[in-house]
Amino acid sequence: MTPHVPVTPEEIANDIIACYDKGASVAHIHARDEEGVPTCDIKYFAETVQLLDKAGCPIVKQISTGARGGKTGEARAEALALKPLSASLASGSSNFPTSINANEPTLIEYMAKIMLTKNIKPEIEVFDVAMINNAVRLQQEGLINKGPLLFNLVLGVKGSLPATPKNLFFLVESLPPNAVWSVSVIGPQHVNLSVIAMALGGHVRVGTEDNIYYAKGVLATNVALVERIAAIAQSMGRGLAAPQDVKRIWGIE
Ligand code: ZN
Repeated sequence: MTPHVPVTPEEIANDIIACYDKGASVAHIHARDEEGVPTCDIKYFAETVQLLDKAGCPIVKQISTGARGGKTGEARAEALALKPLSASLASGSSNFPTSINANEPTLIEYMAKIMLTKNIKPEIEVFDVAMINNAVRLQQEGLINKGPLLFNLVLGVKGSLPATPKNLFFLVESLPPNAVWSVSVIGPQHVNLSVIAMALGGHVRVGTEDNIYYAKGVLATNVALVERIAAIAQSMGRGLAAPQDVKRIWGIE
């Protein structure tokens, strides 16, 4: 669909370093195999992380444990052995455009427990309001560390919540007190809703996982998306968080 998605560990690490230089403070990392197919295999994640460390890039690393590809919980949790500072945690099920975002209760608890024992900050990926309540319950049951719950509100995925201001307000109002949150908006509304999120005090995720278009008919790159949202943030008076700020905001210092 686009030549601008980094595929090899080298391409991914180089893209992350370039994005860090433009103001990104967290890298949400997926991996692909030699055929370019998404994979949970730890070796690709390990290589990417090693390249970042070798380059001295201090960006906060967040490994995806998402459901794409229909892998088992064990496979999806494999790269958590790298003990990244953060990892994505699904807390419910929904639909992706052509597949199911399948996360049954036992799998959710399994993933949460691994993150708890390895001291990995889970980022709850919210595709539906029920996922917020499930995360609150997991924390009450001791499966997520005390401290602010970290949410990424995902809007605009075909088959899930549409990307509208009303849906964003609804999700934000449904968050527990002291939650830290970002948005990740798919589709042409992504800039507008990211601006609303920043005005509400939230944070923003951008990248080619969510949008392959920068504007109508113009393909995006991760660097261009970061550069634009960083410039908007600064013009709104929202300073950019450095990796050290992220740790403080997430309560993991
Ligand atoms: Zn992802």
